[in-house]
Amino acid sequence: MDLTKHATTLGRHLKQKWGERVHKVSINAAFTCPNRDGSKGIGGCTFCNNASFSPSDKKIVTPISEQVLAGQKVIVKRTGAKKYLAYFQSYTNTYAEIDYLKTLYESALNSPNVVGISVGTRPDCVPDAVLDLLQSYQQKGHEVWLELGLQSSFDASLQRVNRGHGFAEYVDAVQRARSRGLQVCTHLIAGMPSEKPEDTLVSLEKVLALGTDGLKIHPLHVVKGTQLAREWKRGEYQPMTQADYVQLVAEIIRRTPKSIIFHRFTGTASEELLLAPAWCSKKWIVLNDICNALEPERA
Ligand code: SF4
Repeated sequence: MDLTKHATTLGRHLKQKWGERVHKVSINAAFTCPNRDGSKGIGGCTFCNNASFSPSDKKIVTPISEQVLAGQKVIVKRTGAKKYLAYFQSYTNTYAEIDYLKTLYESALNSPNVVGISVGTRPDCVPDAVLDLLQSYQQKGHEVWLELGLQSSFDASLQRVNRGHGFAEYVDAVQRARSRGLQVCTHLIAGMPSEKPEDTLVSLEKVLALGTDGLKIHPLHVVKGTQLAREWKRGEYQPMTQADYVQLVAEIIRRTPKSIIFHRFTGTASEELLLAPAWCSKKWIVLNDICNALEPERA
C-alpha cells in the first residue's frame, strides 16, 4: 500500500522539504469553540464530540512544551521521526486574544525539534491579526499550516449539521490567508447528511477552483454523545459504506493536482466513542482499498 504513488502526502512533502521525516504532534490547548459557547451558535456541530478526535481531551491544560515533549517520546519510538509539526487540533485554535495565541504558538515553536505549527480552526474565526501572526512565523522560516474546517461547500448541508458558518466565510478566509502566502489545508467531510458522493466532488471542485494548498478528507462518523448519534439511532442518518467511501476518495485523488498536499485520506475515532460506521476504525484497510482502487490506472 503506497498512496504516495497516486497523491502528494504531507509526510512525503515534509520529508522532501526538511530533509528528514517530520511528524505531527497533537496539542490540546483547551480552546473552546464559538459554535458551542453561544457567540456563533449553541451545542456545536451535530457530529462533534470533541473527545472523538482528541481522546485525551481534558480541561486541565498541560503546558504546551510538556505536551510536545510527551508526544515526541511516543512518536520517535513508533516512527523514528526526530522533527515535529505542533498540531493545534482540538476545538477552535484561533479563538482567543491575540497575545494569548502568541504565547501558545510560540511555546510550541520554541520547543526542541519543532519545525512549525499547524493550526486547526473554523473559517469564520480567523481575523487578520491571527493571519498576520501566522505569516510572521512563516517569514521566519517555520512550516505553517492553517487548517480550515469547511466540510462542505453547500450552505444547506452546513446548516443541517448546525455548522454556524457558510461557504462565503470560507472563501473570505482562504483569500485573506493565501494573499499572505500562508498554506491552507481544507477539511472536507464525505457522507454529510443529505449529501451524495457527487456533492462532495462538487465541494472539491469549488475548493480547487478557489485555491488551496492541502486537503484533509474524512468520513462523517457517528460518535457517542452527539446530536448525530441520536439521528442515527432514530434511523434519520445513514453513514456511507466503506465501498462508496473508497470509490469517492479515489475519485478525489484522481481530480486533485499533484501540487496539492493530502494531510489525510480517512479518519478514525476511538473505539469507546465510535458508533458507526464500524469500518472507520480500520484505517489501514480503508487506505489499502483506496490504493487498490487507483492501482490499475497509475501503478
Ligand atoms: S466547529 Fe469544530 S469544535 Fe466547534 S462544534 Fe464544530 S466540530 Fe466541534
